[in-house]
Amino acid sequence: MSAKIEPKIAAAADELTAIRRDIHAHPELGFEEERTSAIVAKKLKEWGLEVTTGIGKTGVVGTIRVGNNPRAIGLRADMDALPMDEHNTFDHRSQHAGRMHACGHDGHTTMLLGAAKYLSATRNFDGTVHLIFQPAEEGRGGALAMVEDGLFEKFPCEQIFGMHNRPKLDVGKFAIRPGPQMAGGGLFDIHITGKGAHGARPESGIDPVIIATQIISALQSVVSRNVAPLDSAVISVTQMHAGDAYNVIPQEAVLRGTLRAFRKETMALIKERIETISSGIAKTLGGSAKADVKVAFPPLVNDRDSVKFIADVAETIVGKDNMNREGPFVMASEDFSYMLEKVPGAFINIGNGGGEGGCEVHNPGYDFNDDILAIGASYWVRLAEAWLAD
Ligand SMILES: [Zn+2]
Ligand SMILES: [Zn+2]
Repeated sequence: MSAKIEPKIAAAADELTAIRRDIHAHPELGFEEERTSAIVAKKLKEWGLEVTTGIGKTGVVGTIRVGNNPRAIGLRADMDALPMDEHNTFDHRSQHAGRMHACGHDGHTTMLLGAAKYLSATRNFDGTVHLIFQPAEEGRGGALAMVEDGLFEKFPCEQIFGMHNRPKLDVGKFAIRPGPQMAGGGLFDIHITGKGAHGARPESGIDPVIIATQIISALQSVVSRNVAPLDSAVISVTQMHAGDAYNVIPQEAVLRGTLRAFRKETMALIKERIETISSGIAKTLGGSAKADVKVAFPPLVNDRDSVKFIADVAETIVGKDNMNREGPFVMASEDFSYMLEKVPGAFINIGNGGGEGGCEVHNPGYDFNDDILAIGASYWVRLAEAWLAD
């Protein structure tokens, strides 16, 4: 590996690997990260940081102040695991059935801990660094919980930065893109009401199954006809429930699904179209339908100036050829977008390696790569030192 690791961080590599594997072996789900956040708080205190716990339930913030400069930045990691069984057999595999660090948040937490230890010991910057350890990223609303708990009022930041590992991106590489990078996500329920009848006497009822199929067909026109061709969006109906008998036309049907888009305006457009199409088609066919569309995550939008700044920082560690500034759009969502809605900043991807056949996140065979702990921690400390250079 040719990355330029901070020597003090390289010296702590074994310690970081031990922390990462311990957290991996004891995964906790969103808002239940009691053990993990206790480890984080204990380490931060040990290393001399100011520590605030209980922000957004199990969230932790460590603060390092140097000098009187009022400038401050936030560096954010996530701590939660996923509700799934791990299939790995190595020693640090999950000790808990039904829980697994399959997204690498164990590694994200550890990289930020590595940065905390270094920054607190060296204090080679002028201003304040808030190290934000977020709970419940995996669909349980941890970023929003911290924001609503006053994160940025209690810890004002002029910029906020996040990082996620990416399998199949080589070790020693980073990727990012300016502007929208990850899709916003939402989910919907459509409750359709018809009129139950004998299966042989459809004329006496209103068939909610027929209404459901027409709604599903019409929803296909939203992305193809309403969303602009150069914009991107997905609507997938993933559940369809109705009826219990061969010879009964049911009274009700339910459709459920997910939506994704890269712009807030597109999310709003899709929400409006799902509502209008559902109620309009149901009415035309004699029934009624109520669509409940919830936006779960806004799109993740990187600030263009921040992207340039952090890409320059990452280049000092891995070199120009290993910093992809026009990385791919990702249709998956990430709740760091809630923080980026409040404070400008950017979200970078760090290569987790594994090659083309590498194991993706959310797979039962996934593991965070300990070889990148020192690269990620070095990136964090260079970023803090460069942003708050004295
Ligand atoms: Zn995930
Ligand atoms: Zn993740």
